[in-house]
Amino acid sequence: MSTIHVTQRLWTLVALAIISMMVVSACGDTASGSGGLPTLAPTITALAPATPTDIPAPDPVDIPAVNWDDVDRFQAAMRPGYENDIKRYMDRNRYYIEANLMFEEGAAVLLGAERVRYVNRTADTLDEIVFRLYPNMAAAGGRMIVYRTTLNDVPVEPTLAERETVLVIPLDHPLAPGESAEMTLQFSTAAEQGMFAGYGEFGLQDNVFSGPQWYPVLSVYEEGNGWWRQRPSTQGDPSYLETALFEVLLTVPEHFVTAMSGTDIGVTDNGDGTKTVHNITGPMRDFLLVASPGFGQITEYMDDIAVSVYFWPGDEDGAEYAMDVSLDAMRAYDTNIGAYPFAEFDVVETFNLTGIEYPGMTIIADRYWRRGDPFLETVLAHEIGHQWFYSLVGNDQVNHPWLDESLTCYTEYIYARAVHGEDEGREWVQNDRDRYNFYLSTGAADLVLNLPVSAYVNNNYGAIIYVKGPLFYVELERMLGRDTLMKAIQTYFDRFHYEVVTSRNVLETFEEVSEQELDAVFYQWVGEFDGLDPDVIADLQTRQ
Ligand SMILES: [Zn+2]
Repeated sequence: MSTIHVTQRLWTLVALAIISMMVVSACGDTASGSGGLPTLAPTITALAPATPTDIPAPDPVDIPAVNWDDVDRFQAAMRPGYENDIKRYMDRNRYYIEANLMFEEGAAVLLGAERVRYVNRTADTLDEIVFRLYPNMAAAGGRMIVYRTTLNDVPVEPTLAERETVLVIPLDHPLAPGESAEMTLQFSTAAEQGMFAGYGEFGLQDNVFSGPQWYPVLSVYEEGNGWWRQRPSTQGDPSYLETALFEVLLTVPEHFVTAMSGTDIGVTDNGDGTKTVHNITGPMRDFLLVASPGFGQITEYMDDIAVSVYFWPGDEDGAEYAMDVSLDAMRAYDTNIGAYPFAEFDVVETFNLTGIEYPGMTIIADRYWRRGDPFLETVLAHEIGHQWFYSLVGNDQVNHPWLDESLTCYTEYIYARAVHGEDEGREWVQNDRDRYNFYLSTGAADLVLNLPVSAYVNNNYGAIIYVKGPLFYVELERMLGRDTLMKAIQTYFDRFHYEVVTSRNVLETFEEVSEQELDAVFYQWVGEFDGLDPDVIADLQTRQ
């Protein structure tokens, strides 16, 4: 996800104005709220999410058995030379999904069923498996219902928690390390036309359906912490996911254009006004689906990677510019960070606020689709950087957003240097220095980087994670030299792509590559985390 760079200063002023208004009204009002803004009843936030549309319980679906060892067809999702990643990662989470997408009565409705295999790759024995129903999160504003669930082909009764964003499947016998469980879930997902929540990543607007996590998604089990069940705030990216292989058979009206995370390997005309698109992926941590009857599409190549841009009628010129920037950004990161391993990358124009990253895809806000728009360039450089940091090297985006966001902001400098030269690269860094200094000059808190999203309020989140964050990597560049920093970033990417990282992984890799102790600078900028040398922290704390 991206903050609004170009208008950051304006937003800061607006935010300050709002804060001072709040201070004034808080001083002038009585507890009853009379004479001021209407006071919401306190119970309103405790209500269950409303169903945006009536969805009848669908007929039971016979989801076929899957031979999980038969993975040859998945190789089509990989860039030539990276096909072996399929066999290497075939024991990761596996999803086989059949679904039908319809736009009807002002809503996008997906009726589907999935067969999921989970292999216990942890050292713990598990007694339950946890799914997340992301459309039910406040940040999504949609609705997901799970109707029928089986565990190893026997019906099972799951429980729901956290306002129906957590679905728990109890296991009939404990799942030891290395053992697997197979589940089927029949589900419906709905997005009401015009219902806009959070950053506008999920929903139906202007005949475009945008659906990250539109299927029930396996949560993440952390040794020592258990399953991730947290309900994220509406700020920041809400998901925490592990890589999986997806096979999706999606039925849509025949005139729909679909953009999906993986690669289409077949389209069947069903003879009833619908078609079924068969899409498979490499190891990806989410499967985004965007569909519309109105999309135009252009495709070009960055070496052997097919880059497609999906756009609204009338925005051809903006789409061509988006293509130019995307090809430049893909090449800059592929050359300077490490190889992009998938056969395709898609950029899609949607109704979201700025831009949001997904595996193999990014969605970019419609309002910026103009040739030469500086924000369109910046947001594309940012979201495409996320292919390397978030999509490939993954992290808990809710509790450690700095891991993907701050390094992705630093990739913007890599883009500027590679595409426009050193002088412009220096300008992009200086812009961030100016913004950070302006932020500090307002008296706002100078927080460390490794805090959960919920710890940042007002404009702290954008200023600390997106502006101070990349400047931390500039500081490392100053200490280590750019060649060593880039080698550390390349090693980190090479070592942890397809995995989930913690702050310790960054510190240890950068120390190893640079052959320097970096605990002090990490403590100063990033804050405390597991892996820092306690003696160094104690020493710094006594000096403070
Ligand atoms: Zn981002």
